[in-house]
Amino acid sequence: MRTPLSIAFHGAARTVTGSRHLMTFGERRWLFDCGLYQGRRDEADQINRTFRFDPASLDTVIISHAHLDHVGNLPTLVNQGFRGPIHMTEATADLTRVMLEDSAFLMEKDLEHVNKHRRDRPVRKPLYTIEDVNLVLERLVSHPYHQPWSPFPGVSVVYHDAGHILGAALTTFEFESDGQSQRVLMGGDLGRPARPILRDPESPPGSEVLVLESTYGDRLHSDEKANEKELVAIVTRTVERGGRVIVPAFAVGRTQELVAVLHGLTERGLIPELPIFVDSPMARETTAIYKRHPECFDAETRQLLSQGEGAPFGFHRLQYIGSAGESRALNDRKEPCIIISASGMGEGGRVVHHLQHGLGNPRNTVMFVGFQGEGTLGRKLRDGQVDVNVFGEPVQVQAEIVGLDGFSAHADQAELLAWVTNLKPMPQVIHLVHGEIGPMEILAALLREKTGATVHIPTKGQEFELWTN
Ligand SMILES: [Zn+2]
Repeated sequence: MRTPLSIAFHGAARTVTGSRHLMTFGERRWLFDCGLYQGRRDEADQINRTFRFDPASLDTVIISHAHLDHVGNLPTLVNQGFRGPIHMTEATADLTRVMLEDSAFLMEKDLEHVNKHRRDRPVRKPLYTIEDVNLVLERLVSHPYHQPWSPFPGVSVVYHDAGHILGAALTTFEFESDGQSQRVLMGGDLGRPARPILRDPESPPGSEVLVLESTYGDRLHSDEKANEKELVAIVTRTVERGGRVIVPAFAVGRTQELVAVLHGLTERGLIPELPIFVDSPMARETTAIYKRHPECFDAETRQLLSQGEGAPFGFHRLQYIGSAGESRALNDRKEPCIIISASGMGEGGRVVHHLQHGLGNPRNTVMFVGFQGEGTLGRKLRDGQVDVNVFGEPVQVQAEIVGLDGFSAHADQAELLAWVTNLKPMPQVIHLVHGEIGPMEILAALLREKTGATVHIPTKGQEFELWTN
């Protein structure tokens, strides 16, 4: 008799955050990704503390990549009794350390702030601490791309490059039972072809079952040229106004890519020479990790690095800001500049004080380069809200607010479809995760039409049998 094989979607089900997929093969149970749910404080806290299964009962955890919505809740899992190994690629292991340490630090800071300002409420405890993070780091086991490894008898796993952020993987599971085999491909987050620094997403051997993200299931990113033209126009008009460009950007991936593009544009004389500040200790650390993993770079980046000067990760007009004092001192600068600072959705991180200082000035520009989740300050600004709260204080938005979706690390609708239809064989069953319901439904209809697959949009906690034959 065939060993039962199933998956239950405990996170990133009809939402873009908190990826957690519980996979079961006979007696074995493991979690694929253990992401942090990011959203309104109280709701997020509740969701992140509550697993609908006993963490101690899991045999292992397998991770796709180091973004917080995929690894950020590992410390809670360990805190609640998980004691198995946590598998990931080599670069993901390096990045996970930085991501989790930073996450624990921000949680502590955020709570200090909340507890100070809301003395009427009971004192809150952080979701996890640096001690929990250290317990996670002891459990990491890393694997190179393309080399199969086996977490249990009857299961073989291979990582392929997802081209999304450094170390990000497409994860193929091959199950064997009773003389039959079945492949399940966990797409994680899918990157985009022809982007700076990283290699293009690979096309692993096709699988019967595919779990696919759908962040941009309803949208096309502007093409490279249009994106570049828009970026040039934004920087040029802000400099002409004598203002600064503030870019809330995730410290991992987006920051390195943006820096590489700005460097290229300045070298080609398309934007004026101006100081570029990367104000995020984590971005600095992340960049150092990028440099240690040339196995993830495309040919162009390897060539640039071999020419010296450190481009695209460091060059004379780029300055990494270290201390909080230096960060605040940026507020006193009068001349135009570009400040790239985390977090990407304006929730937490140093960018919040740059926004508090800069939003009220009509000469400035706030440029968003990534997806803005519902309920975040970034989404409110992108939606054109004029009165917002920053650090609990009202701010009237006078700065120009722009969004450049061309920097997204997620495949758009056409790129998702091209990648799926290129798989050989094409999947028979597709589960869409990591998206909002509107884009998911649009993508589901297109996938049904182009692949003939059965496409599901799982609800939270919904479980599916995975054998297709
Ligand atoms: Zn991601």
